[in-house]
Amino acid sequence: APEVVVCGRSNVGKSSLINKLLGRKALAKVSQKPGKTATINFYDVDGVYLVDLPGYGFAKVGQAERKRWADLIAGYFDQDRSFNLVVCLVDIRHEPQKLDREMVAFLKERELPFVIALTKADKISAQKARNTKLRVAEDLGVDTDDIYVTSSAKGTGIRELQARISEDTLEE
Ligand code: GDP
Repeated sequence: APEVVVCGRSNVGKSSLINKLLGRKALAKVSQKPGKTATINFYDVDGVYLVDLPGYGFAKVGQAERKRWADLIAGYFDQDRSFNLVVCLVDIRHEPQKLDREMVAFLKERELPFVIALTKADKISAQKARNTKLRVAEDLGVDTDDIYVTSSAKGTGIRELQARISEDTLEE
């Protein structure tokens, strides 16, 4: 089955976005205590596997737990699977952080197809969001067509991201 992977730092708004993408089809847990889950959740969305990777980099967990997450995520990508798309979430209010950069570098190195979804766009003005998109594109070396400005709270950019996912999962 086509596979779409969603990843991002913990608290980036991953559960909320997944719920939006899934609509009423299934529910991902929102705002569980950060750092409490280091499991991979799978959702079957009309024959497309949506893979919810654990949020990385929760500040308050120890080195050992962080390593366990990193291993879990790397281990997932190391399996012999074909990914249609990886959706990498970055909080629109913050410059991409070290872990965001590492994730993007990892995806580029593996030549995996990915897009960036900037989350929580409702927290800044539309003008600022457009500027941030351009800056992040330059900063991370990602095409602006592969960056989506989203807000789970307002529903911004959800249809566009869904359309991209459909497009990239069509041919299989
Ligand atoms: P996760 O840890 O990445 O799964 O993030 P959650 O989806 O649980 O969201 C973390 C926090 O950010 C919660 O308090 C959410 O209510 C909030 N949040 C998530 N998405 C949005 C959004 O689009 N806009 C706003 N304003 N808050 C959001």
